[in-house]
Amino acid sequence: MVQENYRQIEARVAAACERAGRPREEVTLVAVSKTKPEEKIRQLMGIGVRDFGENKVQDLCRKMEDIAGDNRWHFIGGLQRNKVKYLVGSPVYLIHSVDSWKLAQEIEKEAQKKDVTVPVLLEINIGGEATKGGVAPEEAEALLLQMARLPRVRVKGLMTIAPPGKEEQNRAYFRRMRQLRDRLAALHLPGVEMKELSMGMTDDFETAIFEGATIVRVGTAIFGERRPGEPEWRA
Ligand SMILES: *Cc1c(COP(=O)(O)O)cnc(C)c1O
Repeated sequence: MVQENYRQIEARVAAACERAGRPREEVTLVAVSKTKPEEKIRQLMGIGVRDFGENKVQDLCRKMEDIAGDNRWHFIGGLQRNKVKYLVGSPVYLIHSVDSWKLAQEIEKEAQKKDVTVPVLLEINIGGEATKGGVAPEEAEALLLQMARLPRVRVKGLMTIAPPGKEEQNRAYFRRMRQLRDRLAALHLPGVEMKELSMGMTDDFETAIFEGATIVRVGTAIFGERRPGEPEWRA
């Protein structure tokens, strides 16, 4: 049952914070509801959950429209430039997955049209995997310098999807993410906050919290397995 699963994960998040000597409020638990029915989201809302993550623009927009309330919707999937117009100006709370100058420029353009600002994270491909989005860690600074010049794109930090399965290897990746975040924060760029570190999923969120995650994104452990053939990471 989704509420019971959530409570268990919440308890593990709290315990991980405690072990890491961090206040519980420093870490946001995002319930990744992608491919899952709205019914389950409403059940979680019933116990006070507000942060939900989706990885398809169309699914996110439908759920945002159908589900009333003060949820904080996180967009965590690969974002194509031609879909930016559906997200900018919507109630989406944070776009986790900006990984190119062209995408950032498109967001800026739409944000100007709609007279809004858009909080985003810069996605880093920390494992160097060819199949995943994100910029290489070595390219992050150059992209951030460019993005800092866009007045309506507000960079709040970094996000990564670590390679699946290997928790101890991912500890090293998470540590590098934190070092990168701290180094970029020290640049003190205008309009750039560099506070958030979105990292850690079902298999490794406790390690991520220990290494400094401020946002963990948990799907399977809360909602159960996604059906085979369902869109997983990004098309
Ligand atoms: C699906 C997804 C998650 C959640 O993964 P689980 O292993 O099911 O917890 C987290 N982040 C992103 C970007 C995802 O696409």
